[in-house]
Amino acid sequence: MYDNRWDDADAAVWVQAAGPDAADQALALRVYSSRLIGSDPDLVMHGGGNTSLKTTRRDVFGQTVGVLHIKGSGWDLGDIQAQGMPGVRMDVLHRLRALDALSDEDMVNVQRSALLDSAAPNPSVETLLHAWLPAPVVDHTHATAFLALANLPDVAAATAEIFGDRLALVPYLMPGFALAKAACAIRDAHPRAEGLVLINHGHFTWGDDAKSSYLRLLDHTRAVDDWLARHRSGTVHAVPAMPQTELDTLLPTLLPTLRGAIGAHLPPGAALPLFDLRATAAARAFLARDDIALLAERGVATPDHVIRTKAHPLILSLDAATPGVGGAAPAVAGFVARYTDYFARQNARVGGIKTALAPAPGLVWVPGLGLIGLGTDAAAARIAADIGEQTIRVMADGQAAGGFHPIAEDDTFDCEYWSLEQAKLGKGTPPPLRGRIVLITGGAGAIGLATARAFRAAGAALFLVDLDPAALDAALAALGRDHGGIACDITRPGAPDAAVAACVARFGGLDILISNAGAALQGEVATLPDATLQAGFALNFFAPHAMAQAAVAVFRTQNAARNGAETTARTTARTTAQSTARNTAETTARNTAQTTAQTTARGGAGAANGGQILFNVSKQAVNPGRGMAAYGLPKAATMFLLRQLALELGAEGIRVNGINADRIRSGLLTGPMIAARAAARAVDAATYMAGNLLQAEVEARHVADAFVMLARSERTTAHVMTVDGGNIEAALR
Ligand SMILES: [Zn+2]
Repeated sequence: MYDNRWDDADAAVWVQAAGPDAADQALALRVYSSRLIGSDPDLVMHGGGNTSLKTTRRDVFGQTVGVLHIKGSGWDLGDIQAQGMPGVRMDVLHRLRALDALSDEDMVNVQRSALLDSAAPNPSVETLLHAWLPAPVVDHTHATAFLALANLPDVAAATAEIFGDRLALVPYLMPGFALAKAACAIRDAHPRAEGLVLINHGHFTWGDDAKSSYLRLLDHTRAVDDWLARHRSGTVHAVPAMPQTELDTLLPTLLPTLRGAIGAHLPPGAALPLFDLRATAAARAFLARDDIALLAERGVATPDHVIRTKAHPLILSLDAATPGVGGAAPAVAGFVARYTDYFARQNARVGGIKTALAPAPGLVWVPGLGLIGLGTDAAAARIAADIGEQTIRVMADGQAAGGFHPIAEDDTFDCEYWSLEQAKLGKGTPPPLRGRIVLITGGAGAIGLATARAFRAAGAALFLVDLDPAALDAALAALGRDHGGIACDITRPGAPDAAVAACVARFGGLDILISNAGAALQGEVATLPDATLQAGFALNFFAPHAMAQAAVAVFRTQNAARNGAETTARTTARTTAQSTARNTAETTARNTAQTTAQTTARGGAGAANGGQILFNVSKQAVNPGRGMAAYGLPKAATMFLLRQLALELGAEGIRVNGINADRIRSGLLTGPMIAARAAARAVDAATYMAGNLLQAEVEARHVADAFVMLARSERTTAHVMTVDGGNIEAALR
C-alpha cells in the first residue's frame, strides 16, 4: 500500500513527449505524478483529490505571466492529460485573496474568466487553496490513512505525535474560498510546515517539483498508516463466506426485493437503482462488529463522498430476502422517512431554497453478506461501493485509534446540497434507459452485440449471455466497463435460471430480457429427423420460454416488493409530513415535506414499468422458407408465446414485444450462405441482400434500434415489429 510508483524512465518519456517548452515539460511531469497518485485508490478515488503546478508562460501580448495549472473538473487523476489541467492566470487568483468573502458562483466565474484557454474545463473548486500555497507543486489527496486520522476526536494530538510540527491542522470548512483563506493563513503561520491536515477532509502537501511532492505525499501517508497499524487490534471477526449454493438461493430474492422496495419511494416510471455487491471477507468482518449501528450514524469520511453514498448506509438484515412487506420494505421506509425528515429540517435551516434529492440509500450494509453500492447507473453503483469499502476501513482504523467522528449534520447537508451541485439538477436529460438492466441472450453475436451497443447508448447496463466464451469476452471488452455477462448453453436444464441469477447478482435485478439467441437448422420437413426438429425447438422455443419464466420471476419479486412497500411508504411519508409540519413553524419546511411525501407516496404506481421481454422472432414465423422447418416451426411457436405472455402479464405491467427481422448478416446468415443464395437467384450478393421493398440491405443495427424503440414504447405490448426492408409475404397485417 502507498507504493512508490515513480519511475525516472517513465517520467523522462512524458517530458520527451512534451516538446522543448520548459513549462510544457514541467506540466508533463505534473501530469505523470498526478496519474501515479490517481492510480492508487488508497490515495484518491473517482475524481477525488487534486493536483497543481505553478509555472510561467507567454501570453498573446508576449508578456511572461504566472500560471497555475490545476486539475479541471470532470477529470480523474488516474487518467488525466495535460488538457485536464487548465492554466489559470495567477495575478487574478492572487488578487482574490484580498477579498473578505466570495460566493461559490462568483469564484467559479472569476476562475473561468482567468483561464488561458476559454474552452478549458472549470478549474477545481480547491483552486484558490493551491494558488495561495507558495510551493510550485501542490498535491491534495483523501488517502484512506489520512481520512482515519482526520476524523479522530483528538486529531491534533495524533498529528503532533506522528509529525511533530511538520504538518499544520486546518479546522473543517467546506471547500471553496473560505477554506482556502483559512488554510493559507495557517500555512503562513507555520512557515516550516511541509503539509496540512484538513480536519474531517484530507491532506495537502507540496514540493519544488512533481517528484519531491509525490515522495513527500507517500512519506506522510505511510507515516499515518504505520501509526494506525500500531493501534489496530490483532483480532478480526472473521466471518466465513456464505456457501455458493446458499448465495445462489439468497441473492435472486434479496436483491430484487430490496430494489423493488426502494422503487416504491421513487417517482412513477423512475428506473430502479442498480447495485454493486461486495461480498468480501473485509466487509463481512466489519459488519460483524457490535457497533455497526452506531457507526452507520456517524457520516462520511470526507465531504464529497456524500454526493455518492449519502451520509448514512441502510442496514439490512438477511431476513429481508422475504419478498414484499416484511422483507426490505420496513427498513427502506425507515431510511426514507429519516432522510425526508433530515431534508425538511435542514432545508428549513437554509431558508427552504433547496430541491430534495431522491431519498434512496447510496450504500446498504448487509451483515453476514457484505456491502452494496447503489446508483442510478452501474458506474454510480460501483463508485458508491468503492467508497463504501474504503469507508469501512477508515471507520475500523479510526475506532481503533480513538474514534471515527466526521462532520455532523449541518456540514453534511451543506455539501450534499451545495449550490454548485444543485445547479446541475434538472439540467440536461439523462439517457432514456439509464439504469435499466438488460439481459441479451446470444449477446455476443452480430444482432446481440449491435443490440447491446444500442441499449448502452441509451444508458442501460448490459448483461450478455452467450454460448461462446471467447466471443463473449470480446463482446464485453467492446462494451467497456460496467457491463457483465456469462457464457452458458441456455438449452441445458437450469441454465436459464442460472443466467438470470448471475445477472441479478451482478446488478441487483432485471428490467428487460431480450431473447435473441437462435440457430437455423435446415432440412426438408417431409424427411426431417426428430432430433433436428427437437434441437430446433430446444434453442428457438424452449430456451426462450425458460428465459422468459426466469425473467418473470425476477420481475415479480421486484414488483411485489415495490407494490407491497407502497402501503408502508405512503403511511410513513404521510406521518413524517404531519409530524414535521407540527413541529416546524417554517411554512417552507411544511410545504417541502408535503411535496416530498406526495412524491414518495406516488411511487410504486408506475404502470407498465413492471419489466419487459423482447423476442427476436423471425419472418420464418409467418413466412416459411424451403428447408427451414426446424427453424420456422419453433419461431412460430415463439411468436405465439410472445402473445400468450403479453396476455397473461399485461395486468402486472409487464410488456412483451418482438421483432421479425429477415436477411441480416450474422451467424445465421454468413458470407458463404449469402453467396450461395445469391448465386441460386442469379444475382450478386449486394442485390440479394437488398431484395426487399426498400431495395436496401437491412443491418444488425436496424434490428437493434427497433428493439430500443420497442423498449421505449410504454403503451405497446403484444406487438411484433418487422425489420426486413419490406416483405409483403411476411407482413403481419
Ligand atoms: Zn478534498
